[in-house]
Amino acid sequence: MMDKESAIGVFPWMPEKKREQNIQKLSALVGPEKAGEIRGMKNVRMLVPEHFVRLMGQLRTKGDEAGAEALLKTVIPSVEEGEIDVPVECGRDGMGSGYHLQEFALPDHEQPWNIRRLYPDRVILIVSLSCAGICRYCFRKSESGHTRHIDLAPALDYIRAWNTSREPKIRDVILSGGDPLSLSDTKLDDLLTQVWNIPGVECVRLDTKYPVTRPARITKRLLDVLDGRVNIMIVHVTHPAEISEEMIDACKRMARRGIVLRSHTPLLRGINDNRETLKQLFWTLFSKCAVTPLYAIQFVETPGATHFRIPLSESLELMRGMQNELSGPAVPNFIIYLPDGGGKYDIGPFEDIDTIGIRKVEGGYEIPSPLYPGKHSFYPD
Ligand code: SF4
Repeated sequence: MMDKESAIGVFPWMPEKKREQNIQKLSALVGPEKAGEIRGMKNVRMLVPEHFVRLMGQLRTKGDEAGAEALLKTVIPSVEEGEIDVPVECGRDGMGSGYHLQEFALPDHEQPWNIRRLYPDRVILIVSLSCAGICRYCFRKSESGHTRHIDLAPALDYIRAWNTSREPKIRDVILSGGDPLSLSDTKLDDLLTQVWNIPGVECVRLDTKYPVTRPARITKRLLDVLDGRVNIMIVHVTHPAEISEEMIDACKRMARRGIVLRSHTPLLRGINDNRETLKQLFWTLFSKCAVTPLYAIQFVETPGATHFRIPLSESLELMRGMQNELSGPAVPNFIIYLPDGGGKYDIGPFEDIDTIGIRKVEGGYEIPSPLYPGKHSFYPD
């Protein structure tokens, strides 16, 4: 189910009256002109968490208009998105999933669409397409926000079959989505039991934005479900304005249960394309939330979200030498997903691209591919 109770949604399949009521509610937040724009986007799928609505109000009361504006851009569609709603072709996405299907094929098990696999020893398992809010920059934009129920049995069968017949085994299962915390506690409990019962599985990671978008989801009951069964939780966070007192409290409660908390931050034009903003974000995560920043991520190519793209040369400048201005453990590695399934190139904290094997060429960069040994991928600037 879409998380309707705690968010304001506008969807093409809504009855016109309900859609209009929700646009009216959003009008108080975005103003009548923007509300009119949204009204005209007949195919738009949007979901604004109530928690964000409250947070924006608090930021404005404090006079932090820039913070409120950044938050707004993460969830309110702009006309620059167009009407794009492109289905993912064979599970191929900007992270490079779907380019290695042959490599990971099993004779009697077609690789299920909700398994995303770049590396032999780990898989991303899409367990839900719902989220607490729909992010406008989401690289799974064409999938997120749908309410389609996912039958997880074929994917779990695939992992089981791989681990009983192939080496290396899949030892690391990354629960992703949508957002895995949109599943009910009972479903999540059952899923974790099934995953841990697969021979060879040694680690479960969980990707989520719920601590940011709906921290009230982090209940005692949920912590009981996760306790000892999720090794690492990766929290998706883009801007210091997203960090609320409720989020800090939720993260600390998870940390006290022994869940290791790390973060992913996509670099986004108009939201966090500013070095001081990024430093404040990483430091607040580290010092207040018990979240150690893991990755800052170069924009993942996504139709309908290209207005968020920052040229790689600019991203490199944003991140270069940050460890000289921020405590080392608070500085995430900067990573780039290479085109055509070339893999995730981790350039770490760095001083100069000449020291890390990237070559500047006409129109972009040549970057060594971790998955195609000896090959450089061209990455346009
Ligand atoms: S929470 Fe994650 S999956 Fe969901 S819309 Fe945002 S970026 Fe996409």
